[in-house]
Amino acid sequence: MAKRIRIKDILINPKIGEETLVKGWVRTKRGNKNVAFIAINDGSTIKNLQAVADLEKVDEGLLKLVTTGACVSVSGQLVASEGKGQTVELIVSKLDVLGEANPEEYPLQPKKHSLEFLREIAHLRPRTNTFGAIFRVRHSMIFAVHKFFHDKGFYNLHSPIITGSDAEGAGEMFRVTTLDPSQPPKTDDGQVDFSKDFFGLETNLTVSGQLEGELGALALSDVYTFGPTFRAENSNTTRHLAEFWMIEPEMAFYELEDNMDLAEEFLKFLVQYALNNCMDDLEFLNQRVIEEEKVMKQEERSELSLIERLQFIIDNDFERVDYTEAIDVLKNSNPNKKKKFKYLIDAWGADLQSEHERFLVEKHFKKPVILYNYPKSIKAFYMRQNEDNKTVRAMDILFPGIGEIVGGSQREERYDVLKARIKEMDIPEESMWWYLETRKFGTAPHSGFGLGFERLMSFVTGMKNIRDVIPFPRTPGNAAF
Ligand code: ATP
Ligand code: MN
Repeated sequence: MAKRIRIKDILINPKIGEETLVKGWVRTKRGNKNVAFIAINDGSTIKNLQAVADLEKVDEGLLKLVTTGACVSVSGQLVASEGKGQTVELIVSKLDVLGEANPEEYPLQPKKHSLEFLREIAHLRPRTNTFGAIFRVRHSMIFAVHKFFHDKGFYNLHSPIITGSDAEGAGEMFRVTTLDPSQPPKTDDGQVDFSKDFFGLETNLTVSGQLEGELGALALSDVYTFGPTFRAENSNTTRHLAEFWMIEPEMAFYELEDNMDLAEEFLKFLVQYALNNCMDDLEFLNQRVIEEEKVMKQEERSELSLIERLQFIIDNDFERVDYTEAIDVLKNSNPNKKKKFKYLIDAWGADLQSEHERFLVEKHFKKPVILYNYPKSIKAFYMRQNEDNKTVRAMDILFPGIGEIVGGSQREERYDVLKARIKEMDIPEESMWWYLETRKFGTAPHSGFGLGFERLMSFVTGMKNIRDVIPFPRTPGNAAF
């Protein structure tokens, strides 16, 4: 019995004339009364393999079961193809139907399906060209993340998923508990008594691995985490998931500039990796975006194609802009003066919304932008304060079509300053004692950032909704698959 060969491997190295065994799912079947052409896809590549069945040699009843979505095993001789669209094809000598797919019921018939509909059948959507391409690119990007840091001598650190620290955005966390929700133990003052809970304290799913990453950096110098993060933000946007993956490098002895340099190099590396290794899938996705934009108004269409946008990232230095300068640009911008922004920018100190970020990137600088030195009032407690006492060494990277893709900062390494800031922001100091101790014992300047993996994926694949770049999206009201 011949060994099954993946379609990808057949196409890379076709062994013309050899007996070949292929297994996969039927995309289409067409033909005439003499011959049937079966397009088989096994997910190893976007490309199908065409199997050619001579109706005199293949059982007619069996061939009836070869319908879109059915799983088949086919063996036969591999020959050079004279037809258009493929270089080789398989002349069927043996056909088995491993799993039927009743055409009356199978929802993925060969026609256009909306992305919304495909989200409702998330168990089957990996079988479409679009999602096959996305998930293969996703794998390549995961691999590229590890390659980048490994080659630079960083160590991967697993930060915990269940956390007892509620330092960052407590309101947005998912609680983890084994207490009976209908009858939780209570303290004397009527609060839930978490000392009786599994861990002996209140715990949640992590929103970020950063604080633990810092502990690692202050021992191993250069580390990164790459794990799932959870935010119970009840926002139904095209950029937010309740469960997403984040890459968080943390580096001792890096100042804000070094941090920006690393982030820019990292993003360029990832995009270049996709161009070098995922071209078949990117070409398909490129075409998909062109089709999608055909029905859009001229002004909503992108100036560049998907692949051109990727190349543009590599070819251009990111524009580094001080927050104060960005506020001036925004204040004097047309959409602000004509009140086209939903949130108008009137004064220094305003938090930037996605519409402002995208204006800066897409209309004003026409390049990816690194915004830095934000007002301390709109940023987290751990960011290093500047001498002006008003701003912190934060940096966000803004991308076209996405807005914020990276958020990072130089961290506050001075014990007294950090402690004062924690107090000022009403953060319970008791739960942060271990974090503060790193500033007491052998503190060092250090920096880091977080890249939202799905925001990167949206950018690389051109998918406009973040729900379409993760296999099983978690959003408010959705956790069925
Ligand atoms: P935003 O302002 O866009 O909501 P944020 O400021 O809350 O993002 P950070 O806390 O800085 O985000 O997180 C770092 C990165 O994680 C962001 O730059 C973004 O790429 C990504 N990210 C944040 N929240 C989400 C989310 N809900 N879903 C997917 N990615 C996210
Ligand atoms: Mn941010």
